[in-house]
Amino acid sequence: MKAQPIASHFIDGEYVEDTDGTVIESLYPATGEVIARLHAATPAIVERAIAAAKRAQPEWAAMSPTARGRILKRAADIMRERNRELSELETLDTGKPIQETIVADPTSGADSFEFFGGIAAAGLNGSYIPLGQDFAYTKRVPLGVCVGIGAWNYPQQIACWKGAPALICGNAMVFKPSENTPLGALKIAEILIEAGLPKGLYNVIQGDRTTGPLLVNHPDVAKVSLTGSVPTGRKVAAAAAGSLKHVTMELGGKSPLIVFDDADIDSAIGGAMLGNFYSTGQVCSNGTRVFVQRSIKETFLSRLKARTENMVIGDPMDEATQIGPMVSFDQRQKVMSYIEKGKVEGATLVTGGGIPNHVTGEGYYVQPTVFADVTDEMAIAREEIFGPVMCVLDFDDEAEVIARANGTEFGLSGGVFTSDLTRGHRVADQLEAGTLWINTYNLCPVEIPFGGSKQSGFGRENSLAALEHYSELKTVYVGMGKVEAPY
Ligand code: NAD
Repeated sequence: MKAQPIASHFIDGEYVEDTDGTVIESLYPATGEVIARLHAATPAIVERAIAAAKRAQPEWAAMSPTARGRILKRAADIMRERNRELSELETLDTGKPIQETIVADPTSGADSFEFFGGIAAAGLNGSYIPLGQDFAYTKRVPLGVCVGIGAWNYPQQIACWKGAPALICGNAMVFKPSENTPLGALKIAEILIEAGLPKGLYNVIQGDRTTGPLLVNHPDVAKVSLTGSVPTGRKVAAAAAGSLKHVTMELGGKSPLIVFDDADIDSAIGGAMLGNFYSTGQVCSNGTRVFVQRSIKETFLSRLKARTENMVIGDPMDEATQIGPMVSFDQRQKVMSYIEKGKVEGATLVTGGGIPNHVTGEGYYVQPTVFADVTDEMAIAREEIFGPVMCVLDFDDEAEVIARANGTEFGLSGGVFTSDLTRGHRVADQLEAGTLWINTYNLCPVEIPFGGSKQSGFGRENSLAALEHYSELKTVYVGMGKVEAPY
């Protein structure tokens, strides 16, 4: 299987190569096979991408929002037409099952272009402020050159979630995908050009943790939006602070999902499974601490175990497959070490816990795993594992579970399952997180703001709220009379 792109980078409307950059091997996670060889950006490539963005941005910003929006909507249409091809590429890039990528990846990227393309005309309006005989008005102005840095779990979605709001506000973007998943973003850049985006406005360069700082520290960059882990977020925010750049931080989590004894138990189990096993558990907002009220614990666990053991693990290109491999060998090692820690710490292994033996080849597979009798101080309950490992914790009452759910440095998301709607809202209100779900989990349509609080980050992606993070207000005060100076 091969997925070699024309070249490593996409700058100023065309593919660009610089073989002086360190080699990045793209491995298909289901087999470990090398499917593409690319090069990390050299400093010269970084300069070229930022210079192209800087050159192209003013003319783009001078266009009407409707004209910009028309191009984004065309890109959305092209993505939908090519959904299968893009989904297969996403599966090769990440190892996620085609059953998921075909409904969740290019389509959510297309939603983003469609939404921001569509709200352009109204969403970017300023305001008129009456001041007696004088008045003021505000206008929303772009920031300039924005940098997007992506994680490996949703490469195409992240490339679009950052690109669409940045572009509609009149900015240019330089996007660096994760070194684990370098392929998808290049296709997004190609499609934007085909949709009519002027060259230089959406550039993609490859690289790793040594390339990112070249972008973050660059004096011509006005904003950095990162999707990644908390430790990376701290470094990027600190570097950006050096020149007071705008930042959006979409970071990790260890989110609580609370199941009360009056919940529809099968829905709650479905929510917990989706919130732990979708994308082989590699989702930042996953509800990895599942608090189950003690009276329903045994029923919950026995049905959960049966449903988990029925999941289809295998070839991600097979439409019947529900669980694919982890993205990389290293990520699997990390997940396996947490599973070992859970056993040593005394949690009860309900199911999974190993590498599935019926999957052949070198793929980075892990069985979907459930631990019960997990307690708050265990490492598996405190640290982000980023794999298919669900921790079930018991609780007795509402006040106790809220305090324990909030007892974490993270604050990305959370969920509550209950048939008592008053309680659902009351609990959601008290959970310290950016996005909460009642009687469902992990749904993130483009219409709703998404982002974290506490150590999970700041800034919001999607919805009208994203526009505030890719633009700033300019205020103009208009004096209508003579200036009365006291001197
Ligand atoms: P990571 O932090 O290792 O890397 C993220 C990106 O940052 C990569 O592109 C990497 O090359 C780059 N990078 C690393 N060090 C850098 C530096 N010093 N300066 C600039 N760039 C640097 O994260 P990952 O392993 O790719 O992704 C998994 C993490 O991402 C998890 O913690 C997960 O929760 C988080 N995540 C968050 C969201 C969200 O929206 N909140 C979404 C997906 C993933």
